[in-house]
Amino acid sequence: MMIDLEHVALTYQSPDGEIEALRDISFTVEEGEFVSIVGPSGCGKSTLLSLICGLEPPTGGRVLVDGKPVTAPSGRVGLMPQRDQLFEWRTIWGNVTLGLELEGGPGGAAKAQTQMLLEQYGLGAFAQKRPSQLSGGMRQRCALIRTLATGPRLLLLDEPFSALDYQTRLSVSADIHGIIRREHKTALLVTHDISEAISLSDRIVVLSRRPAVVRSIHDLSALRTLSPMERRDAPAFREFFNTIWKELDINV
Ligand code: ADP
Repeated sequence: MMIDLEHVALTYQSPDGEIEALRDISFTVEEGEFVSIVGPSGCGKSTLLSLICGLEPPTGGRVLVDGKPVTAPSGRVGLMPQRDQLFEWRTIWGNVTLGLELEGGPGGAAKAQTQMLLEQYGLGAFAQKRPSQLSGGMRQRCALIRTLATGPRLLLLDEPFSALDYQTRLSVSADIHGIIRREHKTALLVTHDISEAISLSDRIVVLSRRPAVVRSIHDLSALRTLSPMERRDAPAFREFFNTIWKELDINV
């Protein structure tokens, strides 16, 4: 088991008082699985990722990665943030090796591996270019390669496609999903987009409004053999969509 959350709770202390973000979160993610978390805005999805990353401790329950309690950030876990956060003053190579530099400088093997990832995923010719010279999709690939460069086994993705327009988002999310599968990584994706979650995931965890509890967990193995694009045309897609939509209870 890659992630094991046992009755996880988190209450923030703020100048205005306590904010109970997570009340009681329990679920597991198996090695190699792609799991999405959906929930109303502000319910605590990003908070949950920061606990799994080791950026803050839970105020209740336990967070285990690889069977061990998480106490601090570790190289086993890579985070892909909402914006690609590529630095314009660095080349693409400078950006994808940033994590390695922070870990003490890219060793020969890690450098060769990063170069291989750039080549394999169509960015080899862009190594000396700047981020502004890349398309939105290429920037996302670059951000993913930067995360993969440090060799994490678990990827946490915090709304990584939210800055892209709808059409680009469809193809970029399928592309990034394909890379994660080919690299045999375990992934936990936070998204507010139900369709995106259904098109990419093995399972979907639906959270309630804040303070968040797990409302339901959906197993999408019926769609497993279909690509993200094919899933969107499958009859089961609409059924999952309608069920999750009702569970989210979004008022307009
Ligand atoms: P989501 O990702 O689901 O939109 P977040 O995890 O970002 O939600 O936030 C959950 C709740 O906790 C929100 O009400 C937010 O305002 C609050 N919150 C997040 N971070 C902090 C913090 N560092 N201090 C106090 N409150 C916070």
